[in-house]
Parts: sequence; structure tokens; C-alpha cells
Amino acid sequence: MDRLAHLQKLAEPLNPSADQRAKARNSVLAHTEPFLESLTQSVAFCHQPNGGLALDSMPIGEAWPIDQALDLLAEEVLKPGINGASPRHMGYIPLSSLYTSALGDYMAAIYNKYSAMFTVAPGAVRMEHQLLRWMTDLIGFPKQAGGSLTSGGSLAYLAAIVTAREAFAIKAQNVSKAVVYHSGEVHHALTKALFIAGLGEAIVRIIDCDPHHRMDPTKLAQTVDADRRAGYLPWLLVASAGTVNTGIIDPLADLAQVAQDQHLWLHVDAAYGGFFLLCDTVKIPHLADLRHADSVVLDPHKGLFVPAGLGALLVRDASLLAAAHCFTADYLQDQVAGDIYSPADLSPELTRHFRSPRLWLPLMVHGVAPFRAALEEKLLLARYFHQRLSELPGFELGPVPDLSIVFFRYLPAQADPDPFNQALHAALMASGRFLLSTTRIHNRLTLRLALLSFRTHLQEVNELIDCLLVALEQVLNSFSTT
Ligand SMILES: *Cc1c(COP(=O)(O)O)cnc(C)c1O
Repeated sequence: MDRLAHLQKLAEPLNPSADQRAKARNSVLAHTEPFLESLTQSVAFCHQPNGGLALDSMPIGEAWPIDQALDLLAEEVLKPGINGASPRHMGYIPLSSLYTSALGDYMAAIYNKYSAMFTVAPGAVRMEHQLLRWMTDLIGFPKQAGGSLTSGGSLAYLAAIVTAREAFAIKAQNVSKAVVYHSGEVHHALTKALFIAGLGEAIVRIIDCDPHHRMDPTKLAQTVDADRRAGYLPWLLVASAGTVNTGIIDPLADLAQVAQDQHLWLHVDAAYGGFFLLCDTVKIPHLADLRHADSVVLDPHKGLFVPAGLGALLVRDASLLAAAHCFTADYLQDQVAGDIYSPADLSPELTRHFRSPRLWLPLMVHGVAPFRAALEEKLLLARYFHQRLSELPGFELGPVPDLSIVFFRYLPAQADPDPFNQALHAALMASGRFLLSTTRIHNRLTLRLALLSFRTHLQEVNELIDCLLVALEQVLNSFSTT
């Protein structure tokens, strides 16, 4: 009894009083509020490869004052690398940090509902299904569709691949005959998912693209035919609704026709592009044809501005997702099966982040309209940037963007374009004010602008163009003097 009393006393800090909670909360707000208020001035990127090394100055073990810990976090974690909330982060696929989502997370963590199981948290599970239904309706999937909220696109990808594997009964003895089709623009999450799902030995056919980087359906059909004649098992077609490199959308209706004729599972990666479906006033080529897919990956932590940690897998026939993920055990026997799927039966996870509120709360308090507007704004800003650059001499641009990614490079009169554009990128990045990334397109070094933050507006894009021209001037000078 003495020991119990002693232990209870020792463990007391884990359960702070209302006053202590208020103090800790205020300490956190003293950091997050100035951070949010300074976003229009702060850099998008801070090159500081030593970031985090000094975390060891406060080793794990003893208790530190919260203000001291938060100061260390600000210096060692917040500062180095990409600013995950900056309106001038225009590289890779930019993420946002929606404030109401942070509040949803805060409440989710405090309430801590066990969202894996319907019987123990029916409201939490229905909330997840409501969000998923909103997404399947957005795509135009039928009533029997369903899905799962995941930690991100890659996990959703993995569950999609496993579902497609089971739907086609790909077993160990026929893995090496199973064939996967995709274009060279596909995200590497596919390769990783195939590998983790035990399908690393499947045959992969890279289908040629047209000059606009879209998969060629005729080439696809010919390749599948040839494979079937050769005794292989054509299985999975992976298309993209918004590639990372160029933001293009594959011709989904034509690809779906091939998939239907040839009996392939059609998976569409719409992690980046899917939520642009909300922009129904702008014509986006092929996006509406997402509805023909068997499975789709969306990333609310991209297109819906939710902070990192929220992906979604949507499957045209939810029972196929369940067939690949539903297992049970004696210690779960109190779980009576109802007419509603438990998330644990639709995903590799059991105990999991109660992740619905981080999307539900923003949708509740803002409605859909501001999301629609922010996404359409990104589409128009990308077209505006493309237009402005096309009016400047010397820039070579890709086609008018399908979505919000523009790729471009400068063609100098004398110098080799690759090192020149590398230098242009470096000059533009030097101050850290903007973050853009580079890629290789047709094996040529190319700069790319990706717009996806709700905080990015015309002002930022205009400032970027100004900075780009200053950087260009510098690089032209340095190349003419060397
Ligand atoms: C981000 C992304 C992925 C991977 O998703 P994560 O959420 O990063 O795991 C896959 N495909 C595309 C097109 C993406 O943009």
C-alpha cells in the first residue's frame, strides 16, 4: 500500500490539473501564435543540415521545464528544413497546416476514441464513413463503394495493391506471371507497395506516353494483348490523376475501357490531383473519369490542406477491400459484426490515430466552399504563372497545366541548359524565401512550380516571378563572365 501511494504520487505529473493544463497550453500558444503571425515574412526553407543535433543537449530521462523544451523544439526542429506552413513553399507537393484541423487533432487526442471498431466507438466510425462517403460521392463511385482513412497516400497505395492482389487471387506460384502496367510518370509508392505486398517479382511494363506525358491507351492495349498471348497474367493497371513531375492526368476513360476489355484492376493515383474534382467550374481534362477506377488514392493532407498524416483509399466495391483486410481473434470476440464495417476490417491497422476530426472539423466549420475556392485559385494561379512566363523571352515551358504544377526552364543563348538551370534554381533558392524543386523531364533538368497551399495567393506568385527574374539576371551575368 505504501508503494502504491508512492507510485501514485510519482505518476501525478502525467495528469495535470486545470491550472497546469492552462499553463502548458499557454506555453504552446506562445510559440504557435507568433509562428502563424509571421508566415508572410518567414522563409520557406532554411538550409541547416545540423538541425536537430542539439536535441541531445536535453537528454531523455529527467523532466525539463516546458518553456525550455519548446525553445529547443523551435530552434532544432521548427527552423531547419522546409517550413511546412509557408505560402512560398512551391516545391515537390506543398503541404498546408489548416488551423481548424490542428484543433480537430487536439480534440481527437484528448477524447481518444477507439476508432478501429464500430461496437466500441459507433459515432467515431460513422464519422469516418461519412467522410469516406463524401469522397466516394465526389468521385462518382457507386453505393457499394467504401474505403479507409490512412496515415497517407503510401499506406493507402499498399492497401489498394493488397486488395487488387486478393481480388485477382494472385498467389505465390503465379506472382512471376502477373503483370503490372503503368507509365514512366508513376509515383514510386507503387513500386514500394508491390514490394511490401510480396509482389516484387511481378512483371512490370512501362507504357509509353504521348508528348504530353499521358499514358498511351493504344500502346497499353497492344502490350496487354501480347502478354496474354505469351501466357502471362495481365493484372493491374496504375494510372495517375496528377503526376508529381508534371501534374498531368492520364486519359482515364480510354484506359478504363482497356482495363474493362482486358480484365485489369484499374488503380488511379489521385493523391495530388483528386480533390481538384471540387473545382467544377473549371474544365480539367480527364479528371471526372476517375469514377471508372476500381480503386483510388486521395491525400487530404495535400488537396484538402490538412496537416501531414491523412490519406484515403477508396474502393469501388468495399467488400473487396474487406476481403483483403478482415481478420479476427479470440480477444476481439466481443465485437459482433454489424451492417457497418469497422475500420480495422478495411485497413492494415488496428489501434490507430483517431484521424477523422482533423478533416471533419474543418469541413464542419468552413463548409466545402472555401476549399473549392482555394483549389480553383491554385489552378488559375498556375495558369497565370504559365502565361506570364510564356510572355518572357528565353523560357521554355511545358503545356498549359492540367492542375497546379508548371514546369519550365530557361534556354540560354550560349551555355549548356542543364548547368544553367541548376544555377538558376540555386540562385532562386539562396535566400530561402521561396522553395521550388527541380526534376528531370525528357532527361533534361527542369524547374517546377507546384502550388497547393491555401495560403498561396497572387501576391506570392508575382513576388516569385520578380525573384526569378532577379536570379536569372545574376546567373546570366555569372555565365557570361566565366
Ligand atoms: C504524395 C504522393 C504519393 C504518396 O503519398 P504520401 O501521402 O506521401 O504517402 C503518391 N502519389 C502521388 C501522386 C503523390 O503526390
